[in-house]
Amino acid sequence: MYNSTMLKLSDYLSQLKGVGPALVSKLEKFGIKTIKDLLWHFPFRYEDFSQVSKISDLKIGETATVQGVISDIKLKKTWKRKMFIVEALISDETGSIRAVWFNQRFLLSILKKGRLVNLAGKVTEASKGGIRLTHPVYELVSAQTVADDASTNVESLRESSLKHTGRLASIYPETKKLTSKTFRFLIKPILDNLEKIEDPVPPEILNQYNFPEINEALYKVHFPGTLQEARLAKKRFAFEDLLLLRLVNLRQRLKLSRQKTYSFEMDVEYVKSLFAYLPFELTQSQKKGLLEILKDLAKPQPMNRLLQGDVGSGKTIVAALAALVAAKGNKQSAFMAPTEILTRQHYQTFKKFFSNFDKGVGLIVSKEARIFYGGGLENDIKKSELLKKISGGEIKIVFGTHALIQKNVGFNNLALVVIDEQHRFGVKQRAELLKNKESNIPHFLSMSATPIPRTLTLTIFGDLDLSIIDELPKGRKKIITKIVAPANREKAYDFIRGQIKKGRQIFVICPRIEPASQTEYQFQEVLEVRAVKQEYEKLAKKIFPDLKVAMLHGKMKVKEKTEVMNNFKNGEIDILVSTSVVEVGVDIPNATIMMIEGSERFGLAQLYQFRGRVGRGEYQSFCFLFTDSSSKITSKRLNFLLEAKNGFELAEKDLIIRGPGEFLGQSQTGRPDLAMKAIQNPELIKLSQEAAKIILKEDEKLEKHSLLDKRLEEFEKEIHLE
Ligand code: ADP
Ligand code: MG
Repeated sequence: MYNSTMLKLSDYLSQLKGVGPALVSKLEKFGIKTIKDLLWHFPFRYEDFSQVSKISDLKIGETATVQGVISDIKLKKTWKRKMFIVEALISDETGSIRAVWFNQRFLLSILKKGRLVNLAGKVTEASKGGIRLTHPVYELVSAQTVADDASTNVESLRESSLKHTGRLASIYPETKKLTSKTFRFLIKPILDNLEKIEDPVPPEILNQYNFPEINEALYKVHFPGTLQEARLAKKRFAFEDLLLLRLVNLRQRLKLSRQKTYSFEMDVEYVKSLFAYLPFELTQSQKKGLLEILKDLAKPQPMNRLLQGDVGSGKTIVAALAALVAAKGNKQSAFMAPTEILTRQHYQTFKKFFSNFDKGVGLIVSKEARIFYGGGLENDIKKSELLKKISGGEIKIVFGTHALIQKNVGFNNLALVVIDEQHRFGVKQRAELLKNKESNIPHFLSMSATPIPRTLTLTIFGDLDLSIIDELPKGRKKIITKIVAPANREKAYDFIRGQIKKGRQIFVICPRIEPASQTEYQFQEVLEVRAVKQEYEKLAKKIFPDLKVAMLHGKMKVKEKTEVMNNFKNGEIDILVSTSVVEVGVDIPNATIMMIEGSERFGLAQLYQFRGRVGRGEYQSFCFLFTDSSSKITSKRLNFLLEAKNGFELAEKDLIIRGPGEFLGQSQTGRPDLAMKAIQNPELIKLSQEAAKIILKEDEKLEKHSLLDKRLEEFEKEIHLE
């Protein structure tokens, strides 16, 4: 298929003979452009043709592989649904079974009468009685055809053919137009003509853990002799990814530990005096988190910490106290949030609790800048003026959006960066914040309300230290959560109407759309927008025509979204219909009902987060989970939401029930997410961490491991973990 020059990983598939433009464009739908992309498109399972069943032993319901001769094959047409059916009769020495395929006419030109084939699929009951194989995977075992006397020849054909046909067939993530077979046909000759790849994982490490080297492993992932071989080969790649991830994290830690920063001696009396301003006592978790942060601030190396806690657990106040400690030391802090609304909310919270703070506080968003000097003194200010005061050091605490990093904001002595819902922040980005003014790198505190199981957090965010707030402030009213069956929908609507009459407000979250294919996957957002529009129409026109209903989705302009959110916050909207993708992290104490359509389609952790949007004020709040599914599993799963103590507990449950793929967002490739492997195999995490330590201990700068160093550089570009 290819000429004598060896192929390289970086070669484009479009340059290969035999790969036409049609195929190229199909492959591109999977993001496959180069040979490397193709070879790293791993099978997600293997059809085992080595375990061949005798036809007479087949039982309804099992998935089985049979090997036999095609004794008859024909095309039928169902007149009702206008569908083509290819029906074949397969025989081995013990009997015959029918196999059917729908809308695959082309099979007639492949599966010819007399051919020996492997068929793997589910044994089902045929409509006319008896059993059949429905839509089996097929593989031609031999090019020869068998003479009339099929049963005697099956054995001998089988003997000769198994030598050159793999017993395991790789099954790839596929689309209608791009089958596993195509993948196998493409990959085989490429592997046979590929230049030797240099393995980035050091040989001594591979030896230590008995992993195959990369060339062998690639071959075995795609064309394994046994399932064990395939598993070990895949494990090697998972190991490589985990190792790289660990190295990235450790090197990040190392880099930071060499940086200098401002340190603030722990002044317990001062911190206690700050507590006096708060109308409540901090929870135990908050105190513990604060202590961990203050200890970090007392060190001359920059802090790199993730503060995790449920929505409403009071992370903001903890971070604000840290900023006050820095201000006491006459240094500056920057407080950043993903949206302007949240930015303002942080600023307002600060103002509310620390109105006596007598040093400068600034708010800077796209169209506005404000300054606040304590004693209730607050003014609008020109942005340029505020920037001057920031660079002059007069402003101690600045509230802004994430754009603050990119904007040309110069600080005088930035000591602490607090950032909401953006987990990662590299050394480089920190340096950028400083605009060459000084050599000190600021302390960094990230806050997140996304409950991620601990093992996962440690793997993905291994460069961060972790503080967890796992209790809610006392006196929070429990949100009454109900699963609503279709029959009770009207009642729920009546209840909602009653709440609105009392002046309350409602969130409606629209069902998540499951994309049916890779192509649809790319248009998921469009599908969700459609769902929101439909729901909005229904509620606004039919159910609550007398109320003020608005919608919110990801395709709206930022300005429109902000306007809708502001209107909702100001009470001008009764019901807000929204997609799940839209950020609704805003505090709306007056919203008391969270209504979720198609709730069975969301992960538990996500449902939990939705629910956290209500119950933030003085009123009793409710969460209604609408579902059309009456399955036991669904109701069991949704019931966890009624019982769980906190988000972490649910996140762990979610992992167990739905698997990491669902939990982290479906990965559409056969090469599962790094994180996915991580949770499924804690032992592999351990191995990779051990290996990373061994490597760095001897060769911290990876000078003796140049291949690994190079791969690591690529890898850092490949991963964009949040
Ligand atoms: P989140 O962790 O979601 O950022 P916030 O910091 O916004 O939570 O806190 C939610 C609300 O709870 C705020 O109104 C805050 O003032 C209040 N709060 C924080 N800590 C406590 C506490 N220990 N006791 C009572 N209320 C608290
Ligand atoms: Mg918050």
